[in-house]
Amino acid sequence: MIDQTRIDQLRMAPVLPGSHIIDGKAVASASGATLDVVSPIDGTVLTHIAAGDAEDIDRAVRAARAAFEDGRWSGLAPVARGRILQRIAEAIEAEADTLAVLGVRDNGTEISMAIKAEPGSAAATFRYYGELCGKEYGQVAPSAPGTLGLVHHEPVGVVGAIVPWNFPMMIGAWKIAAALAVGNTVVLKPAEVASLALLRLVEICHEAGLPDGVLNVVTGTGAEAGAALGRHMDVDVLAFTGSGAVGRKLLEYAAQSNLKRVYLELGGKSPAVVFADAGNLDKVAAVIAGGIYRDSGQVCIAASRLLVERAIHAEFVERVMAHASKMRVGDPLDLRTNAGAIASEAQMTSILAACEQAKGDGADLRMGGARMAAETGGYYIGPTLFDNAPQTSALVQNEVFGPVLSVQPFDSEGEAVAIANGTSYGLAAGVFTRDISRAHRMVARLRAGVVHVNTYGGADVSVPLGGHGQSGNGHDKSPHALDKFRNLKTAWIQL
Ligand code: NAD
Repeated sequence: MIDQTRIDQLRMAPVLPGSHIIDGKAVASASGATLDVVSPIDGTVLTHIAAGDAEDIDRAVRAARAAFEDGRWSGLAPVARGRILQRIAEAIEAEADTLAVLGVRDNGTEISMAIKAEPGSAAATFRYYGELCGKEYGQVAPSAPGTLGLVHHEPVGVVGAIVPWNFPMMIGAWKIAAALAVGNTVVLKPAEVASLALLRLVEICHEAGLPDGVLNVVTGTGAEAGAALGRHMDVDVLAFTGSGAVGRKLLEYAAQSNLKRVYLELGGKSPAVVFADAGNLDKVAAVIAGGIYRDSGQVCIAASRLLVERAIHAEFVERVMAHASKMRVGDPLDLRTNAGAIASEAQMTSILAACEQAKGDGADLRMGGARMAAETGGYYIGPTLFDNAPQTSALVQNEVFGPVLSVQPFDSEGEAVAIANGTSYGLAAGVFTRDISRAHRMVARLRAGVVHVNTYGGADVSVPLGGHGQSGNGHDKSPHALDKFRNLKTAWIQL
């Protein structure tokens, strides 16, 4: 278990500049360009990373294609691939403290969450897909006598993976480990504000025995490196996690290039629905506060809308605020911190603008809504709560991706469902009730890829996460994620 002394040593460690990793080697951008890496903890420049463009992406895709075609990875027995993925899991665990602190210095997630959600989840994901290698079967079709129909799974080839700045190791692993498990090669483009931990994770993969060229990484901006990956003619599948706006662009790039399959894991505006029969309301209020304010709300499934039955509305909002006001916001490298920094100055500005708009749209600001600890130079916003938010307001309809909770009362189960489903999103939801029939009815009626019942968050790698509505079109995690990264091939045989 990581302790404060260890964290305080690691937080002072020098941070080396980041390069691309192509064909197993660290390389600079062809243009020589770099990007500064700013720590959201205090606004200082930590180091710089290579700023890749189309030329670097092309080098990486060519390396990935060569590695795929010569069978150095796809040609291994599945169990042999699985052993390497499991070795990667062990290596990540062995270096968990260093990885976690490096990642926090880059993106500001509080260390108490990052240690489990980042190296912890990444290692669990590599282990899970490593164990799955060699356990998946093809199919024999129920064809007529005299014919044999076989359905084979094949890897797609070269997978492009573009990931966001929140939980880069966890989300990166969801894509990398599943794509590698079925024999593909990968070109990864991390977010420009959170590349450092992923770069180290890719080095670890090589140290654990992954052959050169199988996993390549190009850092840089979305507009340059990301778009070049999306437009590349030799990428077979693109797996993306990020905003809807960029997801739309990736679909356009695919249409303009080689019609690559594009899987999108996008944002959310997830409702937590609390009924008067939820049981211990104080415990539920603590879960609600954690569900929106941990990692300062920069969680795709954050429960950013609270729908509460009118009979307990006023009392329950007071309880949520009481828990929120006890949360420590600040230095993400202090183990006592419950909510760390906003990942970038631009994201902080966007959250504060959303708060101003919510005030103008008639929601009642009950707490927060302002920058905190500006004297540190870091980017912090305290838990923010708007009561009685109008259903049509931007606050209710648009993802803020910050520590901002909107509250709406409801009178009936039907009204709760209508409010909950009344946005374009459908990523996650929560239901709090002791009535088991009502819980099942709500699971069926809520439009969401995951519905939590009497809890919020924490679903492990064994279950899929995918968006309904405009929250996406694919799944990460579980055996279902493998389908993104393989083709079906039929052999139809006359006997
Ligand atoms: P973003 O869409 O701005 O960026 C995501 C990635 O796309 C980054 O690597 C970025 O460099 C790249 N990118 C930007 N413009 C691009 C372009 N034109 N072409 C190709 N790539 C481009 O998202 P973000 O701000 O980094 O992350 C936050 C978003 O991610 C939120 O909407 C959040 O809900 C979502 N998210 C979803 C899930 C999920 O599982 N559904 C998980 C985490 C985060």
